[in-house]
Amino acid sequence: MHQTKIRLNSQNYHSNEANQHYMSVSQFKQAMQCEASMIAELKGEFIRPLSPAMAVGSYLHAAFDSDEVFSAYLHANHDAIFNTKGNKYADYLKADEMIETIQNDKFCMFALDGEKEVIMTGQLFGADWKIRVDSINHQRGTFTDLKSTQELAKRYWSEKYNTYGSFVQAYDYILQMYVYREIIFQNTGRYYDPYIVAVTKETPPDKAVLHFDSSRFDFEKEYVQTILPSILEAKQGIKKGHRCEKCPYCRATKQLKSSFEIEYLLD
Ligand SMILES: [Zn+2]
Repeated sequence: MHQTKIRLNSQNYHSNEANQHYMSVSQFKQAMQCEASMIAELKGEFIRPLSPAMAVGSYLHAAFDSDEVFSAYLHANHDAIFNTKGNKYADYLKADEMIETIQNDKFCMFALDGEKEVIMTGQLFGADWKIRVDSINHQRGTFTDLKSTQELAKRYWSEKYNTYGSFVQAYDYILQMYVYREIIFQNTGRYYDPYIVAVTKETPPDKAVLHFDSSRFDFEKEYVQTILPSILEAKQGIKKGHRCEKCPYCRATKQLKSSFEIEYLLD
């Protein structure tokens, strides 16, 4: 695998080359679930299917970037967004409602105020990391990520925390904020306060601006420190990455060797 450092920009940020060199929160999260799929993706042997939720998520982010970015996004993804009559598909009409919800709330807009899609790199626990921050405000010393979710108060079981948690725990957003905060500190010399602007897919959408008790980051620090060495070993080919046997990559490449009792069908 290449170990050459590359200069990141918005074009190559998600490239295999960038992902081979840098660890990122999304790569870390993918590896936690399935190292084998992460490695197959880095080698270009597998492309993760883009879910409708992910597509709508990037539409939402483009809308809060500059007007140029959003019109370029609409142009590039025209056929996914518009039907043959030129009307938007239901997912995108819903996304427009979510965008309006945020735009109509002064506090959400205040929280999102800053430089958009800022790329930074740094080092954590022996690995180079890359981050791309939705919005960063150097005057205030804050950064903000925009998240869409089903409902603000929905409960999810978390194996990591061994308890029920919100979407913030379920999607590992505390871990993301911890990593961003550290990398931003390495670049600015100051610990910025993280925020999430959350908007729901309900009709009409609900919204919230969330902050974090900084004590929450201690757990994430220890967690990353504990898990990272094994992920790096898989990435460097020192060990074989574990297969989850559930994800699209594992389903596509699975070869059965034995039967199992029906008890084990359920998680
Ligand atoms: Zn898998």
